Amino acid sequence: MSCAELELRLSERRFRTLATSTASVLWITAPSGEALVENPSWSAFTGQTHAQYKGWGWLDALHPEDRHKVTQQWQQGVTTGLFQHLEYRLKRHDGVYRHVVAQGAPVLDEAGEVVEWIGSCTDVTEARESQSALRASEERFRFLDQLGQATREATDAASVMALTARLLGEHLGTSRCAYADVEPDNDRFTIRNDWSAAGMASSTGVYSLDLFGPLASQQMRTGTTLVVHDVDAELGAEGGADMFSAIGVKAIICSPLVKNGRLIAMMAVHHRQPRRWSEHEVLLIEEVVERCWAHIERVRDAAALREQDRRKDEFLATLAHELRNPLAPVRYALSMLRNPAMSASATTRAQDVIDRQIGNMVRLIDDLLDLSRVSRGLIELQKAPIPLSVVVDMAVETSRPGIQAAGHRLDVQLPQQELTLDVDATRMSQVLSNLLNNAAKYTPDGGRLRLTAWQDEVGQVVIEVADNGIGIPPQEQGRLFEMFARLPNATARSQGGLGIGLSLVRSLVELHGGTVNAFSAGLDEGSSFRISLPVVLVRPAPVATDALHGMESAPLPGPAASPGTPTRVLVVEDNADGLDTLLELLELLGYTAQGVPTGEAALEAVPRFLPHIVLLDIGLPGLNGYEVARRLRAIDQAGPTLVALTGWGSADDRRKALEAGFDHHLTKPINPDALQTLLLDISRCLT
Ligand code: ADP
Repeated sequence: MSCAELELRLSERRFRTLATSTASVLWITAPSGEALVENPSWSAFTGQTHAQYKGWGWLDALHPEDRHKVTQQWQQGVTTGLFQHLEYRLKRHDGVYRHVVAQGAPVLDEAGEVVEWIGSCTDVTEARESQSALRASEERFRFLDQLGQATREATDAASVMALTARLLGEHLGTSRCAYADVEPDNDRFTIRNDWSAAGMASSTGVYSLDLFGPLASQQMRTGTTLVVHDVDAELGAEGGADMFSAIGVKAIICSPLVKNGRLIAMMAVHHRQPRRWSEHEVLLIEEVVERCWAHIERVRDAAALREQDRRKDEFLATLAHELRNPLAPVRYALSMLRNPAMSASATTRAQDVIDRQIGNMVRLIDDLLDLSRVSRGLIELQKAPIPLSVVVDMAVETSRPGIQAAGHRLDVQLPQQELTLDVDATRMSQVLSNLLNNAAKYTPDGGRLRLTAWQDEVGQVVIEVADNGIGIPPQEQGRLFEMFARLPNATARSQGGLGIGLSLVRSLVELHGGTVNAFSAGLDEGSSFRISLPVVLVRPAPVATDALHGMESAPLPGPAASPGTPTRVLVVEDNADGLDTLLELLELLGYTAQGVPTGEAALEAVPRFLPHIVLLDIGLPGLNGYEVARRLRAIDQAGPTLVALTGWGSADDRRKALEAGFDHHLTKPINPDALQTLLLDISRCLT
């Protein structure tokens, strides 16, 4: 063998070894580009036999979409004498298409003519995939950033939904995009705003989740995105295929958002042709629904805060007005009283004015304090069995002045057989009188009010207060019980009102385990408020309750009787006006009274004055009332009867007073009749 032949064989063996040992595919073709000789590494990669790839057969291993482009580039390469970076998808022996980059160069003879082409294909799939993932994620972040900027200024949920749907729809090049709120029942969803490409109808409305069929709807409830590339091929009639086809939808992505185990929102993307959604598109939609929801929550919270703020401002304005209102007549009455030429009847009228106006202010302040105590969970009910008629009488007595002033007629219809409630009588009568006051306030003069009570079929006591007044529009009936809620139509009839009465009513009724509802057929159709209280007690109950407690809102008893023996009363009160008026009242009632402004002064006065009774304010500067009581008891266990005067009357306050050594407890402002009754009771025991 000649040296040249040896060299040739060696070179051929080198090539074969290279062709079978490299990860790349090596190939040789004729000058025309047809495969003639065997290309073992091509066979190994593609699984094509020599017979299959011979000639132009190798093109069959290429992805059909790439064949035309590659054929053209081949011809171009043959003409220019160079292949550089030809990229296409090549089917591997396992049927999977891989991205390859082909490069080739001509082998020339001595005359410079192309005798064959030699080249390689390198598998670049991994690199391409990570590049495209990177691109997709960059694109996703770019879009999310744009979306964030575009919606940042949106301050209402509707604009957030509409803007998001449009931007996402346009970005994906889809036919329709919609954000849906899922109702708390988890069965229905509402599309309030959507975006549709030209020619697609809007999808706003309320839908049932069952639309997607039992399987997909269940999946969505647990947070799995529904991805349908081809409605007709993938969804059966059960899955809503007919319905989606009928509205021109052939591909869907519906991404649910589940928070705390509950489906709360969805982002739906529709396409009018079948469409192969990419994984990145699904990811993007899942991200968008989460962000959109968070933004909507933020703007809804902000709107709720603004509304609360507005109501609070309105409340403060009304409060100022309400508190100033009674002051003008009081001041006027006082200036009349200063006039020595006043007749007795004019004096009485002026006193009545002051009494009434102070009553109004006290009621207002009581409501405010009660509401704040209820909302802080500080109200303790003093529940006891009490006849329904007693509670109703207490309420009617309290509300009578307002009802009479407006010339209304009130009918009270109670069941023939007395019902016994297990309630805090003061609180429940407060509830009923609030409803009666409202009925009187929101009914034109000369109206008819009705209080009816009955026991329903499940044993609950139902109490209804109805009027033929200005009524309540249906859409407003839900918010009446919210704090500070006042209806526009009501202001014309009543200038006053803070919008807290019904809120207090609801809180107190709920504290009793009951419910309260409002009914009205509409404006000028009258209103009724119905309270249902849990099952009544069957056992009859004594009528009387805690004497002090019950008397505070009871009607005035007859004229005061003087005690048989002159009873000495020491009043300890730091408010000079309060001290003077109380002393005057005691003198008027026939007691021998002295007053001191501090606890220290009280301790000095007791051994000198030897009072039978000490009316002792709790909130004193220096020694407080509890401490004074403790010291007095330490000096003389059987000393004077101690009565606490406080602004608070909770069970806890009463307990503290008893522990300090007090015998009785009166809540400010002191009802003169309650005081008189108590003093009489104590005086009787002294003899
Ligand atoms: P206020 O009476 O102080 O405004 P409420 O909480 O008692 O506050 O009542 C709230 C609102 O409900 C009232 O402002 C009024 O608009 C409406 N309302 C209450 N009772 C009636 C009624 N009997 N008829 C018509 N509207 C009523």
